Amino acid sequence: MTEQPADHSDHSASAPRTPSTPQTVRWTTPPTHGGERLDGRSVALVSADRVLTGKRGQAEGSLEVLGGANDAGARAAGRGGAILVRGREILAAGTAAELEGRLSELVPDVDPRKVVRLDLPGATLMPGLIETHDHLPTSGTDVEYPDYGPHEVARLTLNAARAARELLSEGVTSVQSLGARHYVDVALRDAVDAGELRGPRIVASGPQITTTGGHAHHAGGAADSVDEIRRQVRRHHLMGVDTIKTMATGGFTTGGSAPWFAQFTVEELRVMFDEAHRLGKWTAAHAHGVQGIERAVRAGVDYVAHASFVSEAGRTEFDPRLADEMANAGVYVDCTIVAGLPGFIASDSSYAPPARLLWEHGVRIVAGHDAGIPGSPQRAYVGGLQALEEVGLPRNEVLLAATSRAAAGIGRAGVAGVLAAGFEADFIAVAGDPRQDLSVLHNLRLVAARGREFRPDRVEGLPAREVPAKPIGPAVTLAEWRERSVRLARHPEV
Ligand SMILES: [Zn+2]
Repeated sequence: MTEQPADHSDHSASAPRTPSTPQTVRWTTPPTHGGERLDGRSVALVSADRVLTGKRGQAEGSLEVLGGANDAGARAAGRGGAILVRGREILAAGTAAELEGRLSELVPDVDPRKVVRLDLPGATLMPGLIETHDHLPTSGTDVEYPDYGPHEVARLTLNAARAARELLSEGVTSVQSLGARHYVDVALRDAVDAGELRGPRIVASGPQITTTGGHAHHAGGAADSVDEIRRQVRRHHLMGVDTIKTMATGGFTTGGSAPWFAQFTVEELRVMFDEAHRLGKWTAAHAHGVQGIERAVRAGVDYVAHASFVSEAGRTEFDPRLADEMANAGVYVDCTIVAGLPGFIASDSSYAPPARLLWEHGVRIVAGHDAGIPGSPQRAYVGGLQALEEVGLPRNEVLLAATSRAAAGIGRAGVAGVLAAGFEADFIAVAGDPRQDLSVLHNLRLVAARGREFRPDRVEGLPAREVPAKPIGPAVTLAEWRERSVRLARHPEV
């Protein structure tokens, strides 16, 4: 605060003067520390037993391990893995000794004794996890289109803000929103980016572009001709989306819509994706049946959700020729392998998205769970990764599908998903080594989003208050008023 110049205007002579005018107005108490070890501003050297990361800028590739210190001696010798962070950016990754030795080169303006040092013995440092397919506003509800009456926009926005905290509490530091009514994901993205709310980095799509009466038409993004499609894409652009998401086939959750039929022609989809790409957008297509997958891929889509290969016969029928085409096109695919799916497949294998077969054909599988729809809560993210391993993806592939490849799969290659110089400081530490067992991802030791630590919420929240269904009518109204007056009478002094 700068000191205010003395006021020499006439009216000041008559104004009462306080003996000592404070130089700053203390409106508020100072921000509380909150227990965060990383404040998102300082220079910090974070070390653990090892650093695990996909390689820079590569969607494919193997996991890279930096450092390795399974005992105290190795740690003392600086052989653990470490990253150096300044504010929201990663400056370097390597072994702890290497980074200590390079401090004067990497941060010449900072006294090495002032560097925050955070050491996490027994832990693995890795990129923050990435959810590639989410519906933030309907999270926590048990119906796909909850009826909030006149409070719809406000409640959907609050749901989305809560979902964002829940994801961060699971160690998810980036999320692609693939369907949000009223563009609440765009507003939430901006609030998180501005630091007003904590949440993962959000890649926002707004409402899905569909056909009149088509899958998820309730979201408000219907278009029935190439002109209407162009207008929808441009309207989405005007509203500030990052991704254009379309419903290339019908879906299971919209009455009268069949997942095996395509909703748009390949020409219509090409207009949509070309227009989106012209505006610098990422593109994603919900597609179950072969017809819709094929059309979306041929029209140049970047990302395919579901790819369940479900046919008119009501079962998954894998098509190796189409899998090769998907691999050659380089599209990213989430098979929506949610936590409960392996159990479901064990009892009825008619719906079994072919994640393993697609991967064998060279398709880029990413971790997307359609989170926020009924039966797929945000807090089941890690359970979804375990399910992906259960349906046949090798563990290291699952880790790539959840980090570096996922970042590329949501159009954020070079920004997130890798621990290397120049990337944003989105990272987690987990107790143990996820290459040995994915369940260690449940045991978070640290979550940092854009360099600032986030203390996870208890995601189950407070127990919901039982609100018994009751009849309406004069008897109820009178009883309520009577109860209120009895309570008042009990506490006359308060
Ligand atoms: Zn979805």
